Order: sequence, then structure tokens, then C-alpha cells
Amino acid sequence: MAAARYKTKNIQFMRKIISSCILLIFIAETTVAQQPINTDTVPQSYFVTYSKDEYMQKISALPCGITNTDNLATVLKKLQIFINNYKPNKKYADDVYAKASAIEALKGIKEGGYGIAAILIDSTGKIIEQAHNSQLQLHRSDLHGEMALLTKFEQRRTARKYQNEYTLKPGLTVFSSAEPCPMCFMRLAIAGVNTKYCTPGPDDGMVNRVNCLPRPG
Ligand SMILES: [Zn+2]
Repeated sequence: MAAARYKTKNIQFMRKIISSCILLIFIAETTVAQQPINTDTVPQSYFVTYSKDEYMQKISALPCGITNTDNLATVLKKLQIFINNYKPNKKYADDVYAKASAIEALKGIKEGGYGIAAILIDSTGKIIEQAHNSQLQLHRSDLHGEMALLTKFEQRRTARKYQNEYTLKPGLTVFSSAEPCPMCFMRLAIAGVNTKYCTPGPDDGMVNRVNCLPRPG
């Protein structure tokens, strides 16, 4: 998605993403207290929110204690408490990464940026790097969550043992809070890491559009 479009949908987009993160963590649980939904029944259209009213309606339905009259600061505070207290469901191995990516995404929002983050996981399942989208904070069009993550990681001396020349050795996985866009998807593919994500990106998600890429022959 172009940077300009991000700007025009700034607030809605941030709220959409963070609400989506929370939702996905939430619906990963098998015993859902307040919402009779699961990952098999949530349509992709749910993850696009076009107005504040629509957003507040969705997020108020989550078990975070948020109400329609809460301001943004209160919403973020309640989300932070909910995420911090959330216990990953052992039935879903990636639940712990969903929680970690949501916590990292919230850091970005509190800085005034977009609520998107990515986590780098080694072959043993250990989180070895994490970063969030810093486009607005640093005025950098390239610093989407996954791009910021790989740049931050590759600049570390300790990353050498995971690297070949400009690719990463097999066995690493990037877990994003939102489906990678075309730019990030290509970076991840070139780096040679596996890709997982928390919420689909109906607008610009590239993983589900991989067939759009050129093919040999
Ligand atoms: Zn991206």
C-alpha cells in the first residue's frame, strides 16, 4: 500500500490493526467467554474498518472492558492491560507470538506510529528480535514492521551466525501482527525466512496474492 494512502487512513488503520491483533489473540482461545466466534468463521471483511463508529463497535465487543465513550488513551490503556494479562493458549503454538507481536505493535501506537509489528523466531522457537512500524516516527517510507525487524536484526553483530551473504540461513520465521505487504513480502522472501502472520490484510496482503508474482519460464 502506498504511504499516501496510509496517511489518509491513519487513525482508522491503526485502530483496525490493533483491534485485529487483539481479536485474533482472543479468538485463538477455545473457551471464549463473550464472543461466539473462532478463526474459521471470521470473514476477511471484518479486518477492514472504515469509520470510528464501526471500529468502536467492534472493539467494544471484545472482552477488554472498552466502551463506546472511551477516548483513544483509555482504549490503549485497556488494550495494554488485556494483552499483558492474556495467557497464550497452549493448544496453539503461535499464540505466544501473537501476544508478543501485539505488545510490540502497541509500542508503535504509543509513539504515534502505526500499530504493526513483527517478531523474528529462531528454529527452536525463541524470539531473537522484534520491531514495529516506524514510518511516521522516523519519516521513512520503508520502515514497515517486517522491514524494520530485518534491518534491526541484520545490523547486529550477533546476527552473523544466522547469515549467509545477504540471506538468512534456513530455520528462521518472521511472525507479523498483520499480513506482509508486497514490499515486506519480497524482503522476507529474499532474506529466506518463513512467514506467518496474525491478521489478514485484505487491502494489501501479499501472502494470499503470491500467485501474482512472476514465475520462471
Ligand atoms: Zn510492509
